[in-house]
Amino acid sequence: MKEETKLARKKIEATSLMNRIMADYFLDLNQASASNSRKVAWCTSVGPAELLRAMGFAVHFPENHAAMLGATRLATDLIPEANAIGYSPDICSYLTSDLGAYLKGFTPLAKAYPGIAAVPKPDVLVYNTNQCRDVQDWFAWYARELGVPLIGITSPKNVNEVTEAHVEDVTRQLEALVPVLEGIAGAPLDLARLKEVVALSRDCTELWKEVLETATAVPAPLTFFDGTIHMGPAVVLRGTPQAVEYYRVLLAELEQRKATREAAVAGEEYRIYWDGMPVWGRLRPHSELFAGLKTNVVASTYCSSWIFPAFDAEEPLRSMAKAYLELFIVRSDAYKERYLADMTKKFRIDGIVYHDAKTCPYNSNSRYGMPQRLEAETGLPYLVISGDLNDMRCVSDEQTKTNVEAFIEQLEEGK
Ligand code: SF4
Repeated sequence: MKEETKLARKKIEATSLMNRIMADYFLDLNQASASNSRKVAWCTSVGPAELLRAMGFAVHFPENHAAMLGATRLATDLIPEANAIGYSPDICSYLTSDLGAYLKGFTPLAKAYPGIAAVPKPDVLVYNTNQCRDVQDWFAWYARELGVPLIGITSPKNVNEVTEAHVEDVTRQLEALVPVLEGIAGAPLDLARLKEVVALSRDCTELWKEVLETATAVPAPLTFFDGTIHMGPAVVLRGTPQAVEYYRVLLAELEQRKATREAAVAGEEYRIYWDGMPVWGRLRPHSELFAGLKTNVVASTYCSSWIFPAFDAEEPLRSMAKAYLELFIVRSDAYKERYLADMTKKFRIDGIVYHDAKTCPYNSNSRYGMPQRLEAETGLPYLVISGDLNDMRCVSDEQTKTNVEAFIEQLEEGK
């Protein structure tokens, strides 16, 4: 079996800038909530953030908060709190850990950012079910608990080709949100401002795509594990100049590394595609496991999910509808297989790892024969890892290590 060795991973210099931008974001959000100076909206991660931002809301993303609970390895102890009030251990562990944190009166923001005592209190909760039903159930709990209005978009799912009818449907639903949000914000929607925000989201998305595509280079200057951290601004600050500025800086650094053939994983020999959620509580061990096998996880569905090519400032609401429908998670297996086949070619992939996350069927694509079909089509070997995004009781470290080592050995034999 191929043995793991300790290999240095290259630090990204732009990280300190990102940490500052993220700190400013959380402190601003806290200030808006604590001083009542601005209304606060909670938004699902691929919800209509541009609309909320254009209407002056400070925007909080509970999935980002849940990922922090996972990455700080606190989620597993919080999940039982939500189970105790009837939310099953089998449903989204973002949902259960976030509810658990609320029930315990706990937030990792307090430790990370002195001065923040609690998650900002919402004035409105806005969801989009394009990713899953769980986000609606999650926000519905808070709506009842806090007595806050809950509005959102019910999205088509399992879409093969995005049609005019789909786009029309979601555009109408977005339009219907506007008067409700205007009532809460106390001001009408300024169309010019919305166009500006959508243009900024477009710039952010294009730069983020370029950042991820630096990893098409051999050796790659970036890993999936770096991507899960550096996608923070694309998730919580899209539609702002800060996110755009950040990705310009990050891209310049990665282009420089690419030009000098500086590898993110020293001695890169194998290139892996990761499909599914990260295991937040194991980011570092997983990063070290692959790096120790001279293997770089160079591309992923997860990080690429914040690329929205459809944003168009000239048609803000309609292009938002299209962007949020074209997402991988919204699409049929046939579309997903085409997408994965293209990605594996583009990033010169040697094998695919599918993370079968126990509590997120929506991001687990190994359950209906896709790995086998894709292997038959592309000839690329695959490995399915059982685990979870936040519930570490579903993760077996020994099993993962053994399986990954055996998989890389298989790739070695096939070369
Ligand atoms: S897509 Fe998965 S991880 Fe994300 S909110 Fe839905 S169930 Fe949870």
